[in-house]
Amino acid sequence: MSFTLVIHGGAGNITPAIMNKEQEQQYTEGLKASLDKGYDVLRNNGTALDAVAAAIAEMEDNPIFNAGRGAVFTKKGLNEMDAAIMDGSNLAAGAVAGVRNVKNPILLAKEVMLNSGHVFLSGGGAADFARNQGIHMEPDSYFFNQSRYDQWVEIRDTDFTQLDHKGDNLKGKEVPNTGHKFGTVGAVACDMYGNIAGGTSTGGMTNKRFGRIGDSPVIGAGTYANNATCAISCTGHGEFFLRAVVAHDVSCLMEYKGLSLQEACAIVIKDKLVKMGGEGGLIAVDAKGNYDFCFNSAGMYRGMRNSEGKEVVAYYGM
Ligand code: ASP
Repeated sequence: MSFTLVIHGGAGNITPAIMNKEQEQQYTEGLKASLDKGYDVLRNNGTALDAVAAAIAEMEDNPIFNAGRGAVFTKKGLNEMDAAIMDGSNLAAGAVAGVRNVKNPILLAKEVMLNSGHVFLSGGGAADFARNQGIHMEPDSYFFNQSRYDQWVEIRDTDFTQLDHKGDNLKGKEVPNTGHKFGTVGAVACDMYGNIAGGTSTGGMTNKRFGRIGDSPVIGAGTYANNATCAISCTGHGEFFLRAVVAHDVSCLMEYKGLSLQEACAIVIKDKLVKMGGEGGLIAVDAKGNYDFCFNSAGMYRGMRNSEGKEVVAYYGM
């Protein structure tokens, strides 16, 4: 039986002009390490759900990505993280928003799915649940990262909210690009049993305030999985992905209109989102192991490995 793992580490203004050789190597290593972790699970007869969690947890531990240890700073100088995971075999889902001090928010989202009786927990309540369940917590210092801090210091006295991979903000005015290109992370997988799963984890946007939550932890917006259609993980300007209900929209185009995975992804990312002004992309897989990387931004950190021996690691536009 075949299996496939697809991952992303964020989409945005990722071009050869902003990446040096050292950064390329860091991202190549970071993406490969995540592929290794997830692929090992699939190769050892594991489930798509566990592969997705393992691949994402690996990127959460790597400070080059805007998730877990590398999460960006909020207006108050804190790290508040969002994550979601969904099992396409039974439509079970778990998500957390605005959580602090959780080493691997994706593992907390999985715990919510499996053992909370709920789907979506937020803030202090989610942290209480994490402690009750023995989820690994870390002090604030674990999440401190100098370049991420500098990125925040540049805009903390403004009302700007910045995507970590673009000189961008919610009011449509450009703010100086810091040159740091970090990203939200996600994974989708199809396992040897023909089941699929998807997950996403992020620190959100630099300088976010008022408890802002993006698309990543919202089932149907940034994350979705259904064996009948596809598993999706998105990255990009969350406000647009929320309004376009991107992940579920791709699934609906397949379910109700009979479109292929690639056709459905292209309509939502390259047509609908572009018309709305939303920049970003997604990764997708279906239960036959077909996969897609689709983005309307300059680039997307991405990778894929399948049981046919194919491996891809790339960043720039296709
Ligand atoms: N979609 C994420 C958010 O809006 C950001 C990202 O993908 O980098 O929170």
